[in-house]
Amino acid sequence: MSASKSSVSMDQHEVDVIIVGAGFGGLYSIYKLRELGFRVQAFDAAPSVGGTWFWNRYPGARCDVESLQYSFSFSEQLQAEWRWTERYAAQSEILRYLEHVADRFDLRPYIQLNTRVKSACFNEATGRWDIQTDDDKRWSAAFCVMATGPLSQPQLPDIPAIATFEGRAFHTSRWPEEQVDFTGQRVGVIGTGSTGVQLIPALAESAKEVVVFQRTPNFVVPAVNRALKDNELEFWRKHYPQIRHDERFSRTGVWDPLRGTRSAMEFNDAEREYLYRAAWDRGGFGFQATFPDLLTNMEANKTAADFVRARIREAVKDPETAEALCPKDYPFAAKRLCVYSGYYETFNKPNVRLVDLRREPIKRVTPQGVTTDKSDIPLDVLVFATGFDALTGALKNIDIRGRKDKSLRTLWSDGPVSYLGLCVAGFPNLFMLSGPGSPAALSNAVVTIEHHVDLVARCLNDLRTKGMTHIEATGEAQREWCDEVRALADQTLMTQAKSWYNRPPQEGKPRIFVPFVGGVGVYRERCDDIITSGYEGFDLYAHGVEAMRAAAQTATPSACIIAGE
Ligand code: NAP
Repeated sequence: MSASKSSVSMDQHEVDVIIVGAGFGGLYSIYKLRELGFRVQAFDAAPSVGGTWFWNRYPGARCDVESLQYSFSFSEQLQAEWRWTERYAAQSEILRYLEHVADRFDLRPYIQLNTRVKSACFNEATGRWDIQTDDDKRWSAAFCVMATGPLSQPQLPDIPAIATFEGRAFHTSRWPEEQVDFTGQRVGVIGTGSTGVQLIPALAESAKEVVVFQRTPNFVVPAVNRALKDNELEFWRKHYPQIRHDERFSRTGVWDPLRGTRSAMEFNDAEREYLYRAAWDRGGFGFQATFPDLLTNMEANKTAADFVRARIREAVKDPETAEALCPKDYPFAAKRLCVYSGYYETFNKPNVRLVDLRREPIKRVTPQGVTTDKSDIPLDVLVFATGFDALTGALKNIDIRGRKDKSLRTLWSDGPVSYLGLCVAGFPNLFMLSGPGSPAALSNAVVTIEHHVDLVARCLNDLRTKGMTHIEATGEAQREWCDEVRALADQTLMTQAKSWYNRPPQEGKPRIFVPFVGGVGVYRERCDDIITSGYEGFDLYAHGVEAMRAAAQTATPSACIIAGE
């Protein structure tokens, strides 16, 4: 075969790396891979950069991880010059930050907005990925980086006649850019997860009536948001290097110097109460870290659950509503903890009403509202805070085909499999950021995204240096990783609640628990070991004789990828 033979057809645009998504993951991928000299092209279906922070602009939307930690660490200059205004940044501030990142690092020329990737197929003849976008363009790339986000595919509830509603209806993750006025409106909210608990107090400020349809109550701990002070920012800037290091080797990607180290059961009731109270008053996810065994020891867990239930009963005046808001049938924090101040107190407002769907299930949506098995509830607006086709939805939405035309959608029909939550056997040179099987779902997303992007960049650079063109997870490594993820989850109480990362066994199908619960730091050390041991669990190879020759002659990976023998 001639070395001059072109690997791509004339109407295909050719780059080294296609990146899908322009949120935190996509933006940092562009920056990092361009820094290493790779030719990249990113796509995003949205009209703006920002990913989840573009789409989730519902009233009250705010990050529940502290802004000084939920931010990029890759550039000290960026870290020093950006001034976060509040302990927890509002959606608009995070979107401004990501727009600033895109401008500051000149990333926009590499992003095509308003463009959805329809398919990505591995072409065995060329050893490259053929990508089709919804503007009918075709692209060819040596590598694909899926920065599609674990929570980006909105999910509507399976309620009968949902489309018949004649009022305005919104999903929180597809909120319109223009302001929505709720004054004088009767608003129904379905869903009380992290999104619902932020949205409901905000709606209650202006709506005539807010009817909250709750299927499962959540544990909500206060955020205690506030403006950030200059001396606080100064402290962080001074100590950032150590803080960022600690985040990377922590359990959840969050620096928390007050994290407890002794079992809840080593303290008496009064001591425990004191420690819970202190964490409660400080606000935030730190409450969950009061004791290290809250998610492994049911007795310890019950002490936290009892404490929160006592706070709910204190906050909510109507005893029946308070009881309905108390989670009782799953362990504390087994579903993702919600963090927001004032959620429970909202139910004391005369314009807010809770409908407990466990006692009064929804029968159907009607043109005028919602019918439960007890009453017709008239509504002007219906808001679905019903979450996402989490972790796999965005990837399954793209027709991804690996070697032998193997479909990722089909492979994952009974739940996702992966190696490290980063790669899938049979899908060479395809990387998922924050994929299923990584710790992303249980972590500070920015820390895990930066880690994954750094891993991908290191891997691409290593391939180039070694004269290799392809990397692919082995089936055996994938099986062992999935077994390990499952076994680790079994050691915790997290499998005892239905959540977007844990699907209990159903209809003869096994339980699916998706995230790696071993912690962000353990995962990082594991990935480092795998790389330094020569990419254990991966096959690295050169595609064709020409590829090896080309790799020896040039340092650019695009030149290494030549049509197969
Ligand atoms: P979610 O946690 O999946 O919650 C969805 C809610 O909708 C649940 O209360 C669920 O009830 C309810 N629901 C679904 N189908 C229903 C039906 N047919 N009838 C009645 N209720 C139904 O989704 P989310 O609140 O959007 O949050 C998802 C994740 O996004 C969070 O866990 C978090 O990781 C992330 N998030 C982060 C922030 C932040 O501040 N950083 C903010 C918002 C969201 P069941 O519990 O009974 O299923």
